[in-house]
Amino acid sequence: MTSFPGLERLVPDYVKSFEVYIPSKPDDELKKLYGCSKLYRLNNNENPLGPPETARRALQAFDPAQASIYPSGDCYHLRRKLGDIFGMRPDQFLAGNGANEVIGFAIKAFCRQGDNIITADKTFAVYEWVARFSGFEARLVPLVDYGFDAPGMIERIDERTKLVFVCNPNNPTGSWWDQRTLRWFLDRVDGRCIVVVDEAYREFVENPDFPDSMALIANYPNLVVFRTFSKMYGLAGLRIGYLAGSKEVVDIIRRTCVVYSVNTLAQVGAFSALDDREHVARTRESVSSGKGFLLKELGLMGLPCVHGEGNFVMTRLPISDSLAYRKMMTRGVMVRTMTGFRFPNWIRITVSHREALEAFAEALSKILREGREF
Ligand SMILES: *Cc1c(COP(=O)(O)O)cnc(C)c1O
Repeated sequence: MTSFPGLERLVPDYVKSFEVYIPSKPDDELKKLYGCSKLYRLNNNENPLGPPETARRALQAFDPAQASIYPSGDCYHLRRKLGDIFGMRPDQFLAGNGANEVIGFAIKAFCRQGDNIITADKTFAVYEWVARFSGFEARLVPLVDYGFDAPGMIERIDERTKLVFVCNPNNPTGSWWDQRTLRWFLDRVDGRCIVVVDEAYREFVENPDFPDSMALIANYPNLVVFRTFSKMYGLAGLRIGYLAGSKEVVDIIRRTCVVYSVNTLAQVGAFSALDDREHVARTRESVSSGKGFLLKELGLMGLPCVHGEGNFVMTRLPISDSLAYRKMMTRGVMVRTMTGFRFPNWIRITVSHREALEAFAEALSKILREGREF
């Protein structure tokens, strides 16, 4: 029985067939549900060091009275600062309510009915999701050796392809295209569509062969770069990310963006976060030593691992990932199950601080030993 018989007719098929994403419950609820007193969140690739000192101080100095005033509608000061940092113009940047929101801006700006986007089958899923629930085709090119398949993606481009999304480094595999591969790809695309490189984990990368994508924008006006303050800069809770591109392209995308979606605190935090020089180095050190520890522990358990750049590691379990998730939750450790990401029975673990990683290793090894007793 429905109280709204006309509803069916109103809903497009591509919305009807789309399954809603269920976010995790808040910590207090999860602790009650699983009976744990502590909870380590290793599921979202957050920075356990939190925001940089400079951002903390700026947030603390925020005058609550300012909450009644609308934020800068175009993140005026932040865009100027980004322009200085990257040697680009402020109008080459567009901020959003997290990088997630700018994915929607870009798709809305370029896709009309019958168009498609191209990405990988096993990557950050939001590109595919936004395309599908907006009624556009998402062409998924299988990863090769856990990395984006540059020639394979070129082959799938047709005249209805408007955007290609490359997650670099890739979440969840950590694979990445170097400068040569990205240039090769951009040359083959030859301006036929927009190429988005999502660099959510860029700040974690130290390898000098990683592309300088911001500099490439000058030569490739169809290149769009995504960045976020959620990962390295520890501001995930405030929701702010941005895209960068040529002025022509950003001027088009800006038409589809809802002004005021980035709140004042997020702008203050992001602006000040960029001033901290030590935070990035400290985080990189912590990730590097934590990753070493995690890989060693997983190796001792005999589990295959996939990892590369970024603050996360994947591993394949000999048991169901959702069962392992529930068992680990009772021990206060939350990981990301990967079956939904087309990696059946893999989990992704955020490289957090040592205490959390020790709790994870202890919980997982106990669970695996229990499993062997049957
Ligand atoms: C976390 C993440 C994002 C989303 O970042 P927000 O700014 O928090 O919306 C985008 N892309 C990738 C690959 C991510 O891992």
